[in-house]
Amino acid sequence: MSFNIAIDGPAGAGKSTIARKAAEMLGFIYVDTGAMYRAIAYYLLKEGIDPDNTEAIAAACTGADIEIRYEDGEQIVLLNGENVNSYIRTEEVSIMASRSSAVPEVRQHLLELQRSLARTHDTVMDGRDIGTTVLPDASLKIYLTASDEVRADRRYAELKEKGEQVSYEDVLKDIRERDERDMNRSVSPLRRADDAHLIDSSYMTPEEVLLEIMSLISSTGTE
Ligand code: C5P
Repeated sequence: MSFNIAIDGPAGAGKSTIARKAAEMLGFIYVDTGAMYRAIAYYLLKEGIDPDNTEAIAAACTGADIEIRYEDGEQIVLLNGENVNSYIRTEEVSIMASRSSAVPEVRQHLLELQRSLARTHDTVMDGRDIGTTVLPDASLKIYLTASDEVRADRRYAELKEKGEQVSYEDVLKDIRERDERDMNRSVSPLRRADDAHLIDSSYMTPEEVLLEIMSLISSTGTE
């Protein structure tokens, strides 16, 4: 049976940095489920779908065939056969992903892909509903969070580095709006699973978070 680590939490909590490093240290694959939602959002934007039109999103999402491949340990998301990794990290895609991921058909469309990756590989999988819905029997569950301001600081620095023109206030507002949508949607809302370990990374370095996760793994056992 495969060993699966579920890491959930709000935007900007550091999930992807931590999950990627943990996977590398353990020799597991890193499954970034947010990138799958982003690829669908990118498809919907290209198709000109209105983010507020739930029915149109539900109908259109079936045209987005999502596959995952690994190149040098890096997850590549293929949308209808095309590598879309370099198009899915913009604010426009973030906002569409946050809206379209609340549509049940979009979630259903990705669920089997996520579960089959976990069945066939040891994984560190991050997202919003991994411990609660996708992998309720995960070997270890982490709920990684940080204060709104710290998360906005991190996202702002990331976007600036990529040369995006954004203000800190807008990033903070966007993070709060995304949390609100992710936590209050009716299907698979973001919440801490009852058996998830809570880690607040506001005042922790990534190395400290990793150390804590590694110590949780050794107390769980990877056999
Ligand atoms: O994690 P990331 O910010 O890349 O995710 C983009 C969006 O996809 C999130 O804002 C969230 O709305 C959605 N998502 C989700 N469930 C997941 C992963 C991401 O709803 N498991």
